[in-house]
Amino acid sequence: MPVKQAEILIIGGGPVGCVLALALTQAQRSVVLIERRALAAEPAPGAYAFRPIALSYASRLILERVGAWASVPATAIEQVHVSQLGAPGRTLLRAADAGLPALGYVTDYAALNDALTARTRAAGIDWLDRAQAEAVEPGSDAIGLRCSRDGEALDLVGRCVVHAEGTSEGMRLRSYGQTGIVARIETDPPARHCAFERFTPDGPLALLPQAGGYAVVWSLRDTRAETVVAAPDAAFLEALRRTIGGRIGALRAVGPRAAHPLALRERASRVAPRQAYVGNAAQTLHPVAGQGLNLGLRDAWDLAEHWRRAPDPGAADTLGAFAAARRLDARVTVGMTDALLRSFGSAHVLMRAGRCMAMTALDLLPPARRFFARRMIFGPSAIP
Ligand SMILES: Cc1cc2nc3c(=O)[nH]c(=O)nc-3n(C[C@H](O)[C@H](O)[C@H](O)COP(=O)(O)OP(=O)(O)OC[C@H]3O[C@@H](n4cnc5c(N)ncnc54)[C@H](O)[C@@H]3O)c2cc1C
Repeated sequence: MPVKQAEILIIGGGPVGCVLALALTQAQRSVVLIERRALAAEPAPGAYAFRPIALSYASRLILERVGAWASVPATAIEQVHVSQLGAPGRTLLRAADAGLPALGYVTDYAALNDALTARTRAAGIDWLDRAQAEAVEPGSDAIGLRCSRDGEALDLVGRCVVHAEGTSEGMRLRSYGQTGIVARIETDPPARHCAFERFTPDGPLALLPQAGGYAVVWSLRDTRAETVVAAPDAAFLEALRRTIGGRIGALRAVGPRAAHPLALRERASRVAPRQAYVGNAAQTLHPVAGQGLNLGLRDAWDLAEHWRRAPDPGAADTLGAFAAARRLDARVTVGMTDALLRSFGSAHVLMRAGRCMAMTALDLLPPARRFFARRMIFGPSAIP
């Protein structure tokens, strides 16, 4: 049976796995990326379904540091307008509130993945694509990883395995009974640099400016989502117009729609003997606040920082220090996403009045806006 060796074996060549591999390579660590997809040399246009990703300014800094940002197609978000359906009160967060040129950037998951894959190839990182990781076998000073590739077994040996394979088994699940509908719409006038977040009793609606149109991420109760995703284009646009009102102009066209079940999934511990979990493999968030990948990129960056000078990346004390360092960021980000869903999901009259007051207060208090915006962008730990 063929055996392959590298210091760090990363399962999953999604955005988090790629960023980790690039940061580790810069730190002179040897890595191999194991990915079950086939890496086509030139992915065919339209090969993947559209899925928008809002990247925070902190994620831009991480992508710049690994040399990938310049090839990520991105639309800057300069303002975010937050409101709720059927009640007064709104907040307008501006990039200037956070003292930054943009609050974030909108890109497409597939385009981001392609840019990162190309960057890892240019950096000479070893990929094992079309390979499914199947079992890990931790030892005292090394760890084995069993894979299958085109029906053939393949063994890998390293000092540590990183799980960057996305949502996987063994995670605690909290369902919100919601489905996320994703689509791209065209409007008149075209979208510029303002994003909209509108809370409704059915779930939040996000409209993200992307290349002149808006990416729609609309969370709805499962039963309503089934009807809305399958509705004819005109009926879909009319339902959207009733929810967002006239603030984005006339809704002209909608592209193909996709539905994603939404839930919070968390792993009890992000480390195990000679193993670490990052990105969606550690925590999978509801996309209401667009924080899942941003948190995952901070996981990857922090892990690479912990390993910069570590003699043994799989040592229990190194992994323990990494887990301790990530606890606050993960707790705050998961907690904030959960609190947003609970407080804005309630139609109770007192909750609605409280939300109006909170949004108005945030709108009137620049220091509060600055704190809130920077916390959403950087997490509790300062990336720069
Ligand atoms: C509708 C929607 C909207 C979202 N919007 C945002 C947003 O605006 N901002 C934001 O920050 N986040 C957003 N997210 C979340 C974001 O998409 C995820 O957090 C992010 O994709 C996680 O990246 P990852 O690399 O950890 O995992 P993934 O992107 O899931 O990548 C995992 C990779 O591992 C591979 N893999 C899996 N199992 C194996 C195996 N056994 N062996 C080998 N390879 C394997 C997969 O093929 C894949 O390439 C959104 C999510 C959804 C559903």
